[in-house]
Amino acid sequence: MNDLVIKNLYVSVAKDASTPSPLDDAWGTPPRTGGEILKGVTLTIKRGEVHVLMGPNGSGKSTLAMTLMGHPAYTVMKGSVMYQGKNVLKLAPEARAKLGMFLSFQHPVEAPGVPFGVFLRDAYESVKLPKRPISVAAFDMMVAGKAATLGLAYTALARNLNEGFSGGEKKRAEILQMSVLEPSMAILDETDSGLDVDAMRTVAREITALRSKRTGMLVITHYQRILKYLQPDVVHVMVGGRIVASGDRKLAMSIERRGYYSYLSKERL
Ligand code: ADP
Ligand code: MG
Repeated sequence: MNDLVIKNLYVSVAKDASTPSPLDDAWGTPPRTGGEILKGVTLTIKRGEVHVLMGPNGSGKSTLAMTLMGHPAYTVMKGSVMYQGKNVLKLAPEARAKLGMFLSFQHPVEAPGVPFGVFLRDAYESVKLPKRPISVAAFDMMVAGKAATLGLAYTALARNLNEGFSGGEKKRAEILQMSVLEPSMAILDETDSGLDVDAMRTVAREITALRSKRTGMLVITHYQRILKYLQPDVVHVMVGGRIVASGDRKLAMSIERRGYYSYLSKERL
């Protein structure tokens, strides 16, 4: 009942979703081609399980992540997504967040005029506050402590969210949000991309800390290296909008060696 259960999910994106709109900007969506992207994705993530999703560029990994959080550009044509016994597809993105779902974006968005610290407090208030009251002072101390652990300068909290942040700072900022919100289901879209080894270890540590709190996770990555620190329960390969293989860490290792070639040819048959 606490599991995230995705069944036979088909998702389309409107061709004109590539037309830049304020909403697209707000979600940081790059211009795209559109059409039917996901073609029958079935996946169950249980509490505390870490699932890794790999696959070539354009296979639909981010589409799955965005659909799970309710991005308006992605239309579910068929299939279902249940979490905590609720029909997720009927819920607004905010309601999904309240249910404990969290997405770290592949392309974190800049929010001009919104200081990062204020953003975090707002997010915490809307997602967690009713259950976990905390004074402003205690909240600030908690955030400062977590920022220090993540190697994010305290001054970043006074800057507008992601504005002028380096690639690494953006990713750390995403992890800080996750750490503050303590989701029960976290989807991380290439959070390890562009991080140096030290930053990646820190990120992996945060993920492990959440896992010990029984957070379920879908970690989208291109790199085998983060798997060394993560010890995922299951590794999936997505090609052409379908999960074409699932297995243990050995699957990720064989992809590192041989690439996606064998899956690509299977997909064409
Ligand atoms: P991945 O994350 O695996 O690289 P994506 O889910 O980003 O793949 O993209 C899969 C396909 O869906 C691509 O062909 C892309 O052009 C298309 N697509 C994704 N998002 C959009 C969008 N917002 N508008 C139009 N097309 C999109
Ligand atoms: Mg992607």
